[in-house]
Amino acid sequence: MANLFVDGKYGDRGIILGNEAIARGALEAGIGYASMYPGTPASEIIIALDKNKKNIKNIYTEFSLNEHISLHGAIGASWSGIRSLCAMKNVGLNVASEPAHFLAYTGVKAGLVLAIGSDPGAPSSSNEQDDRWYSLHTYMPIIEPSNIQEAKDFTKKAFDISEQFSFGIILMAPSRLCHNAGILHFGDCSDRDLISGNFKRDPENYLNLFNLAVKNHKKYLERNELLKKYVYNSELNMIIDAQISSAKSSRIGFISSGVIYSHLIEALNFINADYYKILKLGITFPLSEELIGKFLDNLDEVVIVEEAEGFLEFQIKKIAFEIGYHGKIHGKNVFKAYGELTIDDVIKGVTGFLGKAAPEYFTAAVNKSEILSDKIPQRMGTFCVGCPHRGTIYSILKASGYSNTGSKDRDVVIAGDIGCYTLGLLPPYNAMDWLTCMNSGLSIGQAISIADKSKKIIALVGDSTFYHSGIPVLMNAIQNNSNILYIILDNSWTAMTGHQKTPSTKTDIDGTPIPNSVNLKDLLKSLGVSYIKTVDPNSVKRFSVIIKEALKEKGLKVIIAKRECILQEERRKKIKNIKSKPENSSEIIYELQKERCVKCNECFVELACPAIQSAKENGINNGKEYYFIDPVSCVKCGVCYEVCPNSAIRKVEFNLHPSINPESQLCFLDNK
Ligand code: SF4
Ligand code: SF4
Repeated sequence: MANLFVDGKYGDRGIILGNEAIARGALEAGIGYASMYPGTPASEIIIALDKNKKNIKNIYTEFSLNEHISLHGAIGASWSGIRSLCAMKNVGLNVASEPAHFLAYTGVKAGLVLAIGSDPGAPSSSNEQDDRWYSLHTYMPIIEPSNIQEAKDFTKKAFDISEQFSFGIILMAPSRLCHNAGILHFGDCSDRDLISGNFKRDPENYLNLFNLAVKNHKKYLERNELLKKYVYNSELNMIIDAQISSAKSSRIGFISSGVIYSHLIEALNFINADYYKILKLGITFPLSEELIGKFLDNLDEVVIVEEAEGFLEFQIKKIAFEIGYHGKIHGKNVFKAYGELTIDDVIKGVTGFLGKAAPEYFTAAVNKSEILSDKIPQRMGTFCVGCPHRGTIYSILKASGYSNTGSKDRDVVIAGDIGCYTLGLLPPYNAMDWLTCMNSGLSIGQAISIADKSKKIIALVGDSTFYHSGIPVLMNAIQNNSNILYIILDNSWTAMTGHQKTPSTKTDIDGTPIPNSVNLKDLLKSLGVSYIKTVDPNSVKRFSVIIKEALKEKGLKVIIAKRECILQEERRKKIKNIKSKPENSSEIIYELQKERCVKCNECFVELACPAIQSAKENGINNGKEYYFIDPVSCVKCGVCYEVCPNSAIRKVEFNLHPSINPESQLCFLDNK
């Protein structure tokens, strides 16, 4: 089957993910360089290019160590005459904000697009940051596609605008666009044979110091004014004047952009609006005063329909003031400034504002869903079955005297950080004392260890987060002789975003050794850490003892909790086709013997492996409780066997070959 993402030609159509549409748009624009530090919801932009790179001519892809490096890389490629795409999640721009700020001073040579996946509602982020506000001081123009087709077409166009005005361009895509799939009409890809770089010295633009920086500041303000003239005529902005029936023209207008524009159209159709006037902004920074003035002319009231905190409203009110507009401008007085703005929210806002009743069935459905949403059981996030982070969190809690079922007191402060292990903040573990941004665990923890000497501090960090920006934080802790236990949860992959390699990933998923991988322990030694222990997080009893011992020591202690992500381990097993073992082969499985189990809850609640299940919750055994191991979910990690204080979980040798002893394969299914 043809791979449309790579081979699609003008006239082809296919269903594609929003992130892939952005990547495809970049391919059609002729990029040769693509980089990112993985971050949801934007990861698939570069994954799409990376996994297809063998079939794409002249493309370099990189999962960089952090967003600062990644954006610098894209700048270097652009200066060498190669169109470059850099992708990141919303908070990634905080890390890349330094290169983003100097980019307007230096300008670009070949087009540079920075695709940012925003996360309203924060389903995969620690905040709802709206990166559009950065453009008020970076001067990076912003383009906002509103559907899958525009995600591709606008990306392609963004490269032209970038080159024409010598700005890096932000392409803003919320998670609903990044992760939605839809029909895409493909365009043609440029002749990729022609792509080759040629860096030429340009001291006037690239050396920003003293008066040169001031000169370039003046230059980019001038380029911004030229860009505004382009914005006025750009086909990316549209005035829609829709007369649906013979109704009189209204003096109320709407201004919107991106996915919310699609919601607005849906809402107006839904309520059978007979007339509407909309300014759809494809370019949301800079705005053209002329275009806004033209739209406001002859309108008494304008409603700005946008998500988050009113970036358009802020700019439009300023323009309206400057041009002397006397009508009313609404925005965040109609629509909420937090959380995801759903179609329901837009329908409610628009009908409320227009004083129009929503269709009865809509109101009934909304009321019913509000009642039902309170009754639907919450699906809490948790670690995967067999995840090594479960062992780490369990061991820390045991070492600190905390229990899910008993004592809630603990004598340690546990600093969370960004990664899969963040899930340890949720019940039943409730392990973390804070979660903010990457590598905040050790840096905040270090200060608390100074401010409150009565506390013992454990700071967590994943291997990928450690390499992202943790090394300077650790060096700071070493230099200041911090009294803290630092646990690096080394699962060998950037697991949360789709298993990109980290610098210390030693073996690829197909078993191929990875050259030049970093030895984490050697790195720590070279930085000057003297207390380093490596432990298997699934050996929970040993791990718990090691944590207790480490907490008694003064100074900086580092424990590497080393075990590969269970998903990658299982995938590798599948690739090796481990199931076709020779005859007579066997493996260990775990059986929970209900007659020995005293329901102490050590495995079911404290460890909380989802493969250990309750008969009552599953509606079996007439409501009488017993626990059992679900053989389909269990990955045979053996941690429950280790934690059971009553020897109620036993190891069973399980014959894998059906022809030898079929009964033996049923023995553990019998648990149910
Ligand atoms: S062995 Fe026990 S802890 Fe491990 S996956 Fe199976 S049930 Fe869960
Ligand atoms: S730890 Fe052992 S005794 Fe306790 S609930 Fe689990 S199987 Fe039963």
